[in-house]
Amino acid sequence: MDFFVDHYKILGLEPTATEDEIKKAFWKLAKLYHPDKGGDPYKFHQIFISYQFLLDKQKRKNYDKTYKEFIKKINLENRYQNAKVIESNRFYYTATLKRFLEKQVRISKIKKKDRLFLANIQYDYEVKLNLQEFECDLIFKVPVVLKKICKYCYGNDLNCSYCNGLGKYKTQAIVQIFIPAHTLHPGQMIKINLEHLKSKSLDVYSEKKMIRIYVDVK
Ligand SMILES: [Zn+2]
Repeated sequence: MDFFVDHYKILGLEPTATEDEIKKAFWKLAKLYHPDKGGDPYKFHQIFISYQFLLDKQKRKNYDKTYKEFIKKINLENRYQNAKVIESNRFYYTATLKRFLEKQVRISKIKKKDRLFLANIQYDYEVKLNLQEFECDLIFKVPVVLKKICKYCYGNDLNCSYCNGLGKYKTQAIVQIFIPAHTLHPGQMIKINLEHLKSKSLDVYSEKKMIRIYVDVK
């Protein structure tokens, strides 16, 4: 799947091209790139290979079956590469002391869950985008808190100095999420599943199965 030649693109054709169109496209390009006329031999070779390939009915039939998928994959990769990155420092964690004080929630002796309820905060992060950013493909780099199993005691030593006997400790990771252009609007809350973070090595996990991000306009 890694190596893919876009024979249609090489000949400047649409995937719907007829045999006649393939031949015409080949002759036109062959004139331009023929090494006898000072053209680039490598380029000419490429054109010739694609031409031969597409004229082979059986080969073309098999190729067309996966062509759309390949193009989709390539387009998506291009979009990923050109997407605007929203860095992790733009995601504000809502369960901070400052936020609770702003919402006039007293902190002492109240569980975090109840504090969030009292403050009427129904999401974990806030991010503010400018209007232009709503129009582009984005990559959200969301900082998440993960728990890691202590590799020194695996939770079997109450006197472990590394994890203070807890068997696990907190660590941070950045989760990257691709957001296609025009899918967000101000005032929207999006949910991101973290279950895939459980990963192959079960020593890192997220206590939250889901994070909620509130998106607003700057
Ligand atoms: Zn430990």
